[in-house]
Amino acid sequence: MSQGFQAVRGMNDILPATSHEWEFLEDTLRAWVASYGYRQLRTPLLEPTALFTRSIGEVTDIVEKEMYSFTDALNGEQLTLRPEATASSVRAVLQHNLLYPGPQRLWYLGPMFRHERPQKGRYRQFHQCGVEALGYAGPDIDAELILMTARLWRLLDLPAVELQINTLGSAESRQQHRERLIAYFSEHVDLLDEDARRRMHSNPLRILDTKNPAMQALVEAAPRLADELDDASRLHFQTLCALLDDAGVPYVINHRLVRGLDYYNATVFEWVTDALGAQGTVCAGGRYDGLIPQLGGKPTPAAGFAMGLERLLALREARHGPRPAPAPQVYLAASGEGITAYALRVAELLRDLGYDTLFHAGGGSFKSQLKRADGSGAEVCAIIGDQERADGSVALKPLRGQGEQHTVTLAGLAAAIAPWATPRSALPGNPDIPSDPSSQ
Ligand code: ATP
Ligand code: MG
Repeated sequence: MSQGFQAVRGMNDILPATSHEWEFLEDTLRAWVASYGYRQLRTPLLEPTALFTRSIGEVTDIVEKEMYSFTDALNGEQLTLRPEATASSVRAVLQHNLLYPGPQRLWYLGPMFRHERPQKGRYRQFHQCGVEALGYAGPDIDAELILMTARLWRLLDLPAVELQINTLGSAESRQQHRERLIAYFSEHVDLLDEDARRRMHSNPLRILDTKNPAMQALVEAAPRLADELDDASRLHFQTLCALLDDAGVPYVINHRLVRGLDYYNATVFEWVTDALGAQGTVCAGGRYDGLIPQLGGKPTPAAGFAMGLERLLALREARHGPRPAPAPQVYLAASGEGITAYALRVAELLRDLGYDTLFHAGGGSFKSQLKRADGSGAEVCAIIGDQERADGSVALKPLRGQGEQHTVTLAGLAAAIAPWATPRSALPGNPDIPSDPSSQ
């Protein structure tokens, strides 16, 4: 390890050896959200601190101890690196009046920042992909959000993830439940840890998602919100469950699922796995009908979810192992006096034909270049020497599979190379590379 600068603890470099795993995941995510009609929203990484304290809630892990907040030395503004993107999304939607024409389906992808204790699956800079369905009262959209996530697990071919759902009811039923919880925890103060004692009066619901093993029995026996749900919330939840049953999506009702952010109401859900150790939640979401008015908008129902890309990648790797790193299709070796201009021209022609081409820059003997070509993973080596330049030709040598090295004219290049390599432009996912250079 170098003696020089190190990255900030809990913030990772994504190196070339794994960046293709990220690209694959991001490509899959983009196609997946598009298939449900979501449009991307990109917001700044910095927001006013008050946006998060007001939306996520003062008495939550994120706001109490995880935010990177600072005062802008130039103008004294209180700023925070976003710990999540729902608040930013709602801020942007209100600022630009995006709900004026009607409901919006939005998605985002990017880094989030939380000052947590770094461990496997838990970082200080991590990445989330999330969607926000704004202006939809559900439960149809709640069901679609869940079907959508279930489809992603199939697209990524992940090991089993379990769906846990719950309802937090309306603001009124939560208020009633809150009072019963305070009474219950007051009777058992001696069993509460320090966090729980502090939160008992300010945010007793939060105590239910404690990770402290010593408190599990206590929270298990706590009064359940399900027992005092209002009729509308009960019907909303029953309808959602029926839609999931119809769609054949299995779920577990977890009465203790409350989510770590204050803005949720009615439906909440998490997808969890035991394949990742302690950091088992890969995706979490729910309904947050109160958030838009809380941030100054007209009352508008909303629901969404966010998932951690590091955890999704770890889960995919647990089943499939690492993905093979991408390789160029053609390696171009060239040697000879003044050969460079011709070599660059042939390399460009290969790219025009749709082949990813790695040009051997820096010269050297053919022997050493061919060694590099082999190591590159390319399917074909294109070789150019003085003779080829004089003839306007190129020698092709297959690096894998059958075939003999032979020399072709540039006009015959496309036909000669085709048996050994498929142009990237003919592969799915690369529609923007023209396969016929004459059409340019
Ligand atoms: P946890 O209970 O694991 O702390 P959370 O409830 O704080 O999660 P959310 O705010 O709901 O998480 O974020 C949604 C998803 O983002 C999580 O389910 C997880 O996959 C991912 N995530 C959250 N915090 C981190 C982190 N520090 N590092 C990596 N991924 C994270
Ligand atoms: Mg957390």
